[in-house]
Amino acid sequence: MNHVYLLAPAKINLYLEIVGNRPDGYHELLMLMQSIELSDLLEFRLTGIEDIRLYCQHPQVPTDQSNLIYKAVNLVKQKFPSAYNNFGGMDITLNKKIPIAAGVAGGSGNAAATLVGLNLLWRLGLTENQLKELGAQLGSDVPFSLVGGTALASGRGEKIDSLPPLENLWLVLAKYESLGVSTIWAYQAYRQQFSSSYRQPDALERQGKINFLRSKLEIDSGKLGEILHNDLEKVVLPSYPQVQQLKEIMQKAGGLGTMMSGSGPSVFTLCRSQEEAEKIKQQTQIDLKNPDLKLWVTRLVNQGVQMATNEHIKS
Ligand code: C5P
Repeated sequence: MNHVYLLAPAKINLYLEIVGNRPDGYHELLMLMQSIELSDLLEFRLTGIEDIRLYCQHPQVPTDQSNLIYKAVNLVKQKFPSAYNNFGGMDITLNKKIPIAAGVAGGSGNAAATLVGLNLLWRLGLTENQLKELGAQLGSDVPFSLVGGTALASGRGEKIDSLPPLENLWLVLAKYESLGVSTIWAYQAYRQQFSSSYRQPDALERQGKINFLRSKLEIDSGKLGEILHNDLEKVVLPSYPQVQQLKEIMQKAGGLGTMMSGSGPSVFTLCRSQEEAEKIKQQTQIDLKNPDLKLWVTRLVNQGVQMATNEHIKS
């Protein structure tokens, strides 16, 4: 194999609780993560020359060494120098469809796809767990982006416990194109304002919470709206009134529930059907009439990085 196309789906956080500070400077989290169909398409092509070259059509995506794709390549190159020496460099073309700086793990998904692409083209034979370990070194959401679906995530977000899939649910995802929120800022702001009220739950309480989330999912996915939660809303919404207003308008338009994803500023509404999602999208557009506001109707999916089909490649 000298060529592969991979899809890297975005994710939303159905539940994000900040449990406490960690000695490594990160935050201890409890999250319910969910992959969505909206995906980036990445092409990996062995070239036989030394260079690893990255191309992307999106003007705001850096194609220099700051891109997480390069960081993934450098990590794998450093761990497996003989594979690089054997197979050489490659061209990586990123077709960016996921909104950037949106809190939906677009960059993490690209890094996850890069690990999978290198594993295939450099014939590394790494298992999913080994890929997850490498992924955790690149970013907290990378291990989830590899496996995808519906999962509980704990620790920094890198410990993944897959759950049965949530079937037949749609969503409207909305983001102001020119608005980005720094994840680092959001967590720091949260720490400054709320760390004095942290109450680290003991193991029993923690398991109780996990069981509660699991049971809600198993009983009736139509009740999912009841568990939607994101602690980071407490710092992002007051600082970005536009996002607060977007959330209120989407909430009013219907659906099972509305929440900001990750550190924002994207907001989503879960829906029972595509029709319901289209109506909410239309209503939001009518209510806000802002050309900077981008909306997508998409659905929950049960996989992370995967091979792209011809249909995906052509679209
Ligand atoms: O892991 P990742 O590089 O994606 O995280 C980006 C930033 O988000 C970190 O530098 C940190 O400031 C914050 N973060 C955190 N606790 C986590 C995950 C992320 O404080 N569990």
